[in-house]
Amino acid sequence: MAIVDSARGTRRTSHAAFRVLRVSGCCLLGLVLLMVLSAPDPMAAATAAPVPKAVLVLVDGVPADVIERVATPHLDAIADRGGYTPAQVGGAVGTATETPTVSAPGYMSLLTGTWANKHRVRGNYDLEPDYSYWSLFRLAKAVTPALQTGVFSTWTDNRTVLLGAGLAETGGLAIDHVADGFEQDSSRFPPLADDRHIQQIDRHVAAEAARVLSAHGPDLSWVYLQYTDDVGHALGDGPEFDAAVGVMDELVGQIWDAVQQRQHRNAEDWLVLVTTDHGRDVATGRDHGGQSPRERRIWMVTNSARLTDDFHGQATIVDIYPSIAAHLGIIIPQTVAAGLEGRSFIAPAGN
Ligand SMILES: [Zn+2]
Repeated sequence: MAIVDSARGTRRTSHAAFRVLRVSGCCLLGLVLLMVLSAPDPMAAATAAPVPKAVLVLVDGVPADVIERVATPHLDAIADRGGYTPAQVGGAVGTATETPTVSAPGYMSLLTGTWANKHRVRGNYDLEPDYSYWSLFRLAKAVTPALQTGVFSTWTDNRTVLLGAGLAETGGLAIDHVADGFEQDSSRFPPLADDRHIQQIDRHVAAEAARVLSAHGPDLSWVYLQYTDDVGHALGDGPEFDAAVGVMDELVGQIWDAVQQRQHRNAEDWLVLVTTDHGRDVATGRDHGGQSPRERRIWMVTNSARLTDDFHGQATIVDIYPSIAAHLGIIIPQTVAAGLEGRSFIAPAGN
């Protein structure tokens, strides 16, 4: 089994063993030889490093105190492999980097590793991002053109505006696996009160992400689940919000299952990182956008076994970009690295 799934070099060893068996003409000797050569080769396993892959899951507007209180068994299962930490969004208050605790600015900080003074996204609409700060997807494609990417999202603007897929300003960034645009499909997902149809879309997005991750194993993916923010705006803190967090956890569990199955079948090293883009106001939980501690306090869950002390210290949303790059083994060109605001909390491979 290991031979079928392992690197090309090991498969060649298997074929060589078959040829040796035929040439020898001695059944017993040949059988022994085949058994020896067919066994997993520790040297091959040691030299053929598994292919690094990463999936970033962004769930919208879930404060750290909620994720720490509500039962989330699937997130717990991921954290058991790596860790959980509270973290920060919003830049440094009162400085140039201060960034609204609003969705698109948060996603953009995540995607570019910079704050709003650089990426220029300060709201959710009428955006004019500064694409000179390369997204993680653009970086990955530039460094390794063969690398495959995926975006699975309720909100099409995540791909077309924030990542700038297909635009001249991003060098015509291409995303290989896409599942989005469902919020514009009112015949398939007719609008419901309190945006409850968004939860149906999230279920579809998660299922599509799990299917594509399992079947194709793109090297870098972004999964975006929105409904938690909608229920927060509609109803604030309370049992409905907690229930939405529970559903979100189930959907993350589908993605985690797909990754685990994939890793079981293939010589791959998967990083799963789940985070949120902002907290919510302390009074009601309906709002966000300001710089209060609850709005700024986010969290991260990951299965990474290479977390550094920085993860459990003062991790911020802009640290995710260099961390995923570190997992993928991407050497960030100096022109891009010079603009980054964060630093990796994942140690380089081999450390
Ligand atoms: Zn949001």
